Amino acid sequence: MPLFDTHAHLEDEQLAPLLEDVLSNARQAELVGITAIGTTVQSSRDCLALASKHSMVWAAVGIHPNHCKESTEEDWSAIQHLASDPEVVAIGETGLDRHWDYCPIEIQKTWFARHIELSFETQKPLVIHMRDCESDILSMLEAHQRNGQILGIMHSFAGQWETARRCLEMGMYISFAGMVTFKKSDELREISKRIPADRILVETDSPYLSPHPHRGTRPNQPCMVEHTARCIAESRGISFQEVGETTTANAQRVFGLLTQ
Ligand SMILES: [Zn+2]
Repeated sequence: MPLFDTHAHLEDEQLAPLLEDVLSNARQAELVGITAIGTTVQSSRDCLALASKHSMVWAAVGIHPNHCKESTEEDWSAIQHLASDPEVVAIGETGLDRHWDYCPIEIQKTWFARHIELSFETQKPLVIHMRDCESDILSMLEAHQRNGQILGIMHSFAGQWETARRCLEMGMYISFAGMVTFKKSDELREISKRIPADRILVETDSPYLSPHPHRGTRPNQPCMVEHTARCIAESRGISFQEVGETTTANAQRVFGLLTQ
């Protein structure tokens, strides 16, 4: 049964030293793809190097909202350059974060807008981080959409249904991470049931937030995406097989891997 982890920080210091094991565990869990997500220029370069080396790995390049403050114009040129590589299948991790006070929100918005433009230029989807800022994200996306569309993924979604609904309306994908498996996440499971079958994705956001029943175990790693897929199968009342096939096909479509 195929599975695709659409969001893993494989270059993170918790995972990088274990990479051979991490990838072999992923293959054993029948993963067919992993998107390694950059958060700075250096980590974006590292993700691209992993993607070039391992056939199951793809890369996303960008500057995470929590790293905007120290990023420079040269950094942005580097991201634009990296974005044109064929192994790069997405733009991000970008978005907004009002939870951690690492960077003034106006600076975050400037960088988010740049990523949105780059996504249109490259025709590669955005990978969007949203923390305590649903209305800011929606107004940015709705202000920058073209013909009512944004090509993008709401990563590790933990927002309200209304936010998901408006993102879906713009043609976006909604990705669920380990949080959906937690006991207290009934509301999020309800939302996951309402996502159309052709727009739902699964991810680990590893090395963070291991899914139930491995909650608290570190590091989280791509093979654990199976638990999130099983949880979604249970809430939607469909088989694990079906969730694996659907979410994998969606991942391959959004990352443009079907035509390659
Ligand atoms: Zn992330």
